[in-house]
Amino acid sequence: MNLTCDTVMDLFPLYYDGLASQSSREAIRRHLRTCPSCREFVHRYRETASHPAPCGSESLPDFDQGYRNLADRLKRRHIIKTSAFSFVLAVCLATLAASFFLKRNGR
Ligand SMILES: [Zn+2]
Repeated sequence: MNLTCDTVMDLFPLYYDGLASQSSREAIRRHLRTCPSCREFVHRYRETASHPAPCGSESLPDFDQGYRNLADRLKRRHIIKTSAFSFVLAVCLATLAASFFLKRNGR
């Protein structure tokens, strides 16, 4: 049985855990003798499997930090919109008051 590199990578976890069949183990060993890239894969797999990352390590995305960044951006955007609306409203009220005042004084 000749295996492709993809098949070796798919089967290697079973091989590593001793769950692959005898014929699969022999086919994987035969492939590894002739394929340097799969030997490199096996080397990296063994390194990773023997030193797994601890739970909560930096390999997991920091959702809390992402949420805080998003909340800060939304808060800043809300402040800018509210400030702009307040400024436009103040200008409109000042113009209205000035026109009312000028009309009342007959100018
Ligand atoms: Zn290969």
